[in-house]
Amino acid sequence: MKRRNFIKNASLTGVGLAVGSTLNACAETASEQTNESTSKASLPLVIATWDVKNATAKAWEVLQAGGTALDAVEKGCMVEEANAEGQSVGKGGLPDRDGNVTLDACIMNKEGNCGSVVYLQNVTHAISVARMVMENTPHVMLAGKGAEQFAYENGFQKEDLLTEASKKAWEEWKVKSEYKPIINIENHDTIGMLAIDKKGNISGACTTSGLAYKMAGRVGDSPIIGSGLFVDNEIGAAVATGLGEEVVKTVGSFLVVELMRQGKSPQAACEEAINRIVNKPNSDYKNFQVGYIAVNKKGETGSYSIHQYFSMTKFQDEKNENIQSDYFIK
Ligand code: ASP
Repeated sequence: MKRRNFIKNASLTGVGLAVGSTLNACAETASEQTNESTSKASLPLVIATWDVKNATAKAWEVLQAGGTALDAVEKGCMVEEANAEGQSVGKGGLPDRDGNVTLDACIMNKEGNCGSVVYLQNVTHAISVARMVMENTPHVMLAGKGAEQFAYENGFQKEDLLTEASKKAWEEWKVKSEYKPIINIENHDTIGMLAIDKKGNISGACTTSGLAYKMAGRVGDSPIIGSGLFVDNEIGAAVATGLGEEVVKTVGSFLVVELMRQGKSPQAACEEAINRIVNKPNSDYKNFQVGYIAVNKKGETGSYSIHQYFSMTKFQDEKNENIQSDYFIK
């Protein structure tokens, strides 16, 4: 059975749920098809979670000029961090339940080095601070006040990240909420970006304001190397978006890269990582979203998520397009 037909049939017959062995069997077919369609991949390329064409265009500019994949993913992510209208990354990110905007980000280079910031406040470009942690300190992660202090010492400006629009959204949430974070499947907009430069080297980055209205102090998957992001320049890279707790529990991005190491295509690897979450005992997957995107050393790409509200932006061969992902649940 072709999986696309399976999904179509499922929706036509009113079946809203598609998990288990039937889907696994179908996923195999879809991956084979994806493999065929991506076998002529050309470099350089950049992919990112969600519809972020301005960000991938910036990364592409860097790659086309002969820049490194590392510069490309940093500069690309910075576009979304500076976009005060985007409410899930950098400036304008939705706050925690107490009204604080706190950012998580990480970056990883072709040598397998990484840097990360956790619970960073008052600094827009968390991804650049993460890169400085990687390049200018002997550490991998800096958190909270220490990360903020480190940012100021390295020339970053203090800024109020809570915009009027995000403040208003938080105030409205406070009135009607039962005081729990939003795990709405449409509310996950972490930007994760993976690039391969002209020399064939891979890097990745991930930046977010995390779950909207989370508990103060909550940290998700996005700054955790192996969960939110993983890069192995010999094999490929993966990055996650969605409910970070579920990604952390399955060490999702590392899993996707290890599955590619075992020979799976990026598409099949993303699908298996999602299957692991969905097929866990008592999984509550109907009520949350997780999505992965991945690229292998050949420049083949894949993306997959639990729900339909997921897409990947891909800039390759002068084409900057947003690709809607397949999904488990209609
Ligand atoms: N992964 C992020 C987190 O859990 C949230 C998201 O992707 O929207 O913090």
